[in-house]
Amino acid sequence: MAILDQGPLNYKEQLPPIIHENYGKWRYHENPKPGVLKHVSESGAELYSVRVGSPRLVSLDFIREICNLADEYCGGYLRFTARHNVEFLVSDAAKVEPLIAALGERGLPVGGTGASISNIVHTQGWVHCHTPATDASGVVKAVMDDLYEYFVSSKLPAQLKISLACCLNMCGAAHCSDIAIVGVHRTPPRIDHEKIRKGTEIPSLVASCPTGAIRPNPKEKSVVVNDAKCMYCGNCYTMSPGMEIIDPDNDGVAILVGGKVANARTNPMFSRMVIPFLPNNPPRWPEVTDAVRNIVETYAANAHKGEKMGEWIERIGWERFFTLTGIEFNAKLIDDFIFSRETFRTSAAFKY
Ligand code: SF4
Ligand code: SF4
Repeated sequence: MAILDQGPLNYKEQLPPIIHENYGKWRYHENPKPGVLKHVSESGAELYSVRVGSPRLVSLDFIREICNLADEYCGGYLRFTARHNVEFLVSDAAKVEPLIAALGERGLPVGGTGASISNIVHTQGWVHCHTPATDASGVVKAVMDDLYEYFVSSKLPAQLKISLACCLNMCGAAHCSDIAIVGVHRTPPRIDHEKIRKGTEIPSLVASCPTGAIRPNPKEKSVVVNDAKCMYCGNCYTMSPGMEIIDPDNDGVAILVGGKVANARTNPMFSRMVIPFLPNNPPRWPEVTDAVRNIVETYAANAHKGEKMGEWIERIGWERFFTLTGIEFNAKLIDDFIFSRETFRTSAAFKY
């Protein structure tokens, strides 16, 4: 009989001996150089973590390659971070530089620590999902190629987290990142009555629409959409294959900025849209890479040390953010959803 409900492996069985021995007894850590962390325990034991960028979507050959490196330099131990970087856990200080050299020979970049741009948390895109308005892996590769210098250094005012979601489901961290790239549609769904009749629970489809744009259509045993109320979220297509919304000529991405999850200094913040649309231009998405670089460089040149993107913008004011970045303010950026009033200015305090 098959073994069921066994859950994941107990992570403690997979810890390197040095972590087992010093579990819960770490005194401090340092970041001696980009991509390298040194943790020192109460007993004086030293653990070096060498952080390496990964494309997240990897082959078994890639996994075997990093396992071979872990066997050679780390007693067979490594881990993946929450931003899907790989961390080699080295307990012998003499092996740190040889490991970094071996990684360099294989083109694996060491970085992503401190005030850097670490990996981009991202999603499935055209590789595997049925609802995307853009690709994930392709955009991420283009953006990280362009911002590579920030992965392998710590020269920003603070850590800058970039995320990508290929539709407004926002799998991942797009709603709470310093910069978020989000796939958006710009045309309403195209109704296929036959598919809706055959494969859709109509009340759930009607209830899936955040703006109430969908109504039952009893004559067709289907639905109708009020296009004027539709804002192309695609939620109805998630509910029903008869609401196809993907539109290669009109889909693209929006850019959001200023989100954070940490409680350090200021409360967590949602990211907010600053560019409503950029076209999908595969394979290198130049409009997107240019827009992201502009925001990164303007932030790097103007923020105080230790200040996150959202904290910087809240300090200088959103008008000033648009002035400094040269991004055109657009009426589409004004919130018009249920609780939008809270986002309007209810004060005379602003800068010309
Ligand atoms: S963000 Fe949307 S399109 Fe991308 S993986 Fe999630 S559900 Fe699929
Ligand atoms: S795309 Fe969104 S807003 Fe438009 S009809 Fe579907 S669920 Fe409603």
